[in-house]
Amino acid sequence: MTSPIDLPGWRHVYSGKVRDLYAPSDAAGSDAADTALLVVASDRVSAFDHVLSPGIPDKGVLLTTLSLWWFARLAGGDGGRTIPNHLVDGPIPDAVRGRAMRVRRLDMQPIECVVRGYLTGSGWAEYTANGTVCGIALPGGLANGDRLPAPIFTPAFKAPMGEHDENISFEQAVELVGAETAAELRDLSLEIYTRAAATAEEHGLILADTKFEFGRDADGVLTLGDEVLTSDSSRYWDAAAWRAGTTPAERMASFDKQIVRDWLAAEWDKQGTPPELPAEIVERTAARYRELLDLLTRD
Ligand code: ATP
Ligand code: MG
Repeated sequence: MTSPIDLPGWRHVYSGKVRDLYAPSDAAGSDAADTALLVVASDRVSAFDHVLSPGIPDKGVLLTTLSLWWFARLAGGDGGRTIPNHLVDGPIPDAVRGRAMRVRRLDMQPIECVVRGYLTGSGWAEYTANGTVCGIALPGGLANGDRLPAPIFTPAFKAPMGEHDENISFEQAVELVGAETAAELRDLSLEIYTRAAATAEEHGLILADTKFEFGRDADGVLTLGDEVLTSDSSRYWDAAAWRAGTTPAERMASFDKQIVRDWLAAEWDKQGTPPELPAEIVERTAARYRELLDLLTRD
């Protein structure tokens, strides 16, 4: 894992698999809930809970550009009502310009707010086993990659670093955050998904599923945090390929790190350290990320 860089005026406080968080160094010891944070997206790529080597060139810049673009649309740029988000104005250090967001520190909710409009991934796995996703009963006879009758809220419990996030039922979400907050998170998540899926569709893309993270700001307002609607947090498929395709692979031509997952699944038995990604896989993945940004932001 590339180590976080020294940024004048900031101190490193946390590194996840992909992002590094910094707090203002002059606020050391301050407990002001409103303190700014710097969220820096690295070029690291993870799959099957491992950070792989090498990274994907400019991935962090692409993810940050996508997040900022979506935050602006969700703040009303798409004609909808304003969804509060964690972005704040202020200088960004030169060394991370383009890959960093300056944000308000939120009190993060312990659940990941997943919305699925299509059935695949861990949702597909649960459906084949039980006919449900996160406890929600679905019609019989659905295939991998099928569109759901309506989008569903399928929360996950945020596992500690290095562990697998766990899909939970709405009732379990209520136990974790309370009934009122759980309902608020569900309604907000479904609203944002529906708006974003409509935008994606205008650009020939299917937003199959996505994950949001919310926190409360100093005034207690539920606020959209983290990254949003990026190719790391979402599955985007090519709508034309989905309509024409017959096999799951043809239908789910994706703009995310599926290329990496597929290569790794074929080349590695998931024991020990994963192998180095070949240059060709790195290049194809980088191209896919760039293509998504081009498609979405094109008029
Ligand atoms: P993983 O590597 O499993 O994804 P992670 O999600 O903890 O772990 P990253 O996504 O790399 O790691 O790091 C981002 C972290 O910052 C997350 O823990 C996220 O909840 C947190 N975060 C995002 N926005 C805010 C915010 N405004 N205030 C406080 N924490 C935030
Ligand atoms: Mg994360």
